[in-house]
Amino acid sequence: MKILVANIGSTSLKWRLFDFANGGERLLHKGGFERVTDYPKAIEDCMMELKNAKAIQDENELNAVGFKTVIAKNVTGCVRLDERVLQAMADYNGLAPAHNPPYITGIKLFAQRVPKVPLIALFETAFHQFAPEASLRYAVPESWNQIGIRRFGFHGASHKFIAERSAELLGRSDVAERAKQLYVHGHATKISGAPLRVISCHLGGSSSVTGILNGASIGTSMGMSPQSGLPQNNRVGDLDAEAIPYAVKTFGISIEEAQRQLTKESGLKGLSGISNDVREIADAAAKGDAKAKLAIDVYTASARHWIGGYFLELNGADAIVFTAGIGENRADIREAICANLENLGIKLDAEKNKSVRAIEAEISAPDSRVKIFVIPTNEELVVARETKRFLENRNN
Ligand code: AMP
Repeated sequence: MKILVANIGSTSLKWRLFDFANGGERLLHKGGFERVTDYPKAIEDCMMELKNAKAIQDENELNAVGFKTVIAKNVTGCVRLDERVLQAMADYNGLAPAHNPPYITGIKLFAQRVPKVPLIALFETAFHQFAPEASLRYAVPESWNQIGIRRFGFHGASHKFIAERSAELLGRSDVAERAKQLYVHGHATKISGAPLRVISCHLGGSSSVTGILNGASIGTSMGMSPQSGLPQNNRVGDLDAEAIPYAVKTFGISIEEAQRQLTKESGLKGLSGISNDVREIADAAAKGDAKAKLAIDVYTASARHWIGGYFLELNGADAIVFTAGIGENRADIREAICANLENLGIKLDAEKNKSVRAIEAEISAPDSRVKIFVIPTNEELVVARETKRFLENRNN
């Protein structure tokens, strides 16, 4: 079974082609284009590259194209992309303005280009859909809850990959196997052995921390939109509900302008006044720039806040996992996040931590009760696996 996973940005197309033949999981091809101006051509070029590489002979050899879609109104999980689902995504364009519109456009173009190939979506909200109700609710009137003002959570494919892989690394194949069934069975909290408690820190251009019990999400730092939780690259993260009306009145700006500033001029960029990229901010901080140092400190404090919340919720942790651009590459930020936690049994191996970059590794000290891992995430593989499961269930 050959499944193409297409990652669509407003000006980029990246793909990975997986082959699940003979019970295996093989990456056949990966590629992508940046600064795309002609999307139909980019899709055409993608098909051409797949053929030139002999990964496929013909588009119709693809069993499906899978998409890591973000959010849709009243739709989550892994679903076939049809007009109803595309409309549900469009209904929430406002919640994910950087993601939903390009995905809708891209999916429609794929539908034109490969009309016989099923197009399947795995929503980023899916992994959190079975978290306890108390962790998904805002304390708003019921009528607000009814119109969907509640926490959905995001980065589901990444946190799910971490849930499965961390269980394997911790020698808990029972939980890893259970986690792999998750989207089918929902709650994965009933297992026979000791509970497995993992805190997954997806730290990148956009960041979230998730508490994972026995392979299932019990809550996550992002809420109704990806515009919450930790400070993001240029998005604000958590903000008091009164702040927007106050800024609108004080500056005499529109709600739309306030939204623009909170989604384009805030987060690490707003705090540092330098960049939305941690590499540039850290360089400036090292040269003594106070705002850059503050940006890193706010980010680190927020990550610790959420890790602490799930540490309590899970009654401790078997592992804390760092993943995504910052989590995989920035030893300095991992060190700052894990500083002074010895009393909680969380202790980095400082030297090991410094040596690990973009590879899977344990970075905790031998006497740390909580294991600390770096695990490069593999969201595309999760999308491909779920797409495969969707096709198999449909055929049953
Ligand atoms: P992501 O959204 O996962 O690609 O992560 C983007 C963030 O990770 C940016 O703030 C980068 O500064 C940081 N990052 C990504 N790759 C690297 C790298 N190779 N070295 C250091 N930082 C990186």
